[in-house]
Amino acid sequence: MSTRPKPQKARARTGASARGPRPGVSAVFLDRDGTITEEMGYINHLDRTQVYPWAAEAIRKLNRAERPVIVVTNQSGVARGVFTEDLLHEVHRKIAFELAAQEAKLDAIYYCPHHPDGRIEAYRVKCLCRKPATGMVMDAARRFRIDLASSYVIGDSYRDMQLGFNAGARTILVMTGYGRGEYEHQRHRWDRLPDRIAEDLLAAVEIVLGEGARRGPVPRRRVAASRDL
Ligand SMILES: [Mg+2]
Ligand SMILES: [Zn+2]
Repeated sequence: MSTRPKPQKARARTGASARGPRPGVSAVFLDRDGTITEEMGYINHLDRTQVYPWAAEAIRKLNRAERPVIVVTNQSGVARGVFTEDLLHEVHRKIAFELAAQEAKLDAIYYCPHHPDGRIEAYRVKCLCRKPATGMVMDAARRFRIDLASSYVIGDSYRDMQLGFNAGARTILVMTGYGRGEYEHQRHRWDRLPDRIAEDLLAAVEIVLGEGARRGPVPRRRVAASRDL
């Protein structure tokens, strides 16, 4: 499922050629909690949503570089009956409003409200969208004509990195939210390390834009088997 406030055409693509199909655009997929907003556990009230002070600048830089910015977030609190989908929409409106006040814009927000053990029957399902499954990314890739191999997944948990591996995208782990703790105490259990580590979302975006400037041929990545922590 996804929040689709305004249907939009995909942004301008570079490298379009009359000789062949237009290449897809390089997007940036962002986790929400611990990446854009403070990791606060279940966000069961609007007051618990705190956008990091550097998030708007980071997202604005991506907007200006014409990279689609797409949030992909697991919100199993809906399935668990901790909060409703309506509240989730309110939270997303609040985040969008705060970012807009600083001239930053999310192109789309995709969320997974499901959980296989959820208390609310309508959401109790083993779905294809709960990260590290790639349903949300694949939906966005079709909608925005995204080239996944040159796109990034940025998040604060290994599950986000697994999403990136599964989608064949590049991965950056941020040290905000659960990031530092997972990196320092869990990484010996990881099958594969993130491509890059960044202090926070702004630092991660600097990496994305720096690599974009000198982007060459992108090596094909193997797709790692997904595994829950
Ligand atoms: Mg997170
Ligand atoms: Zn789902």
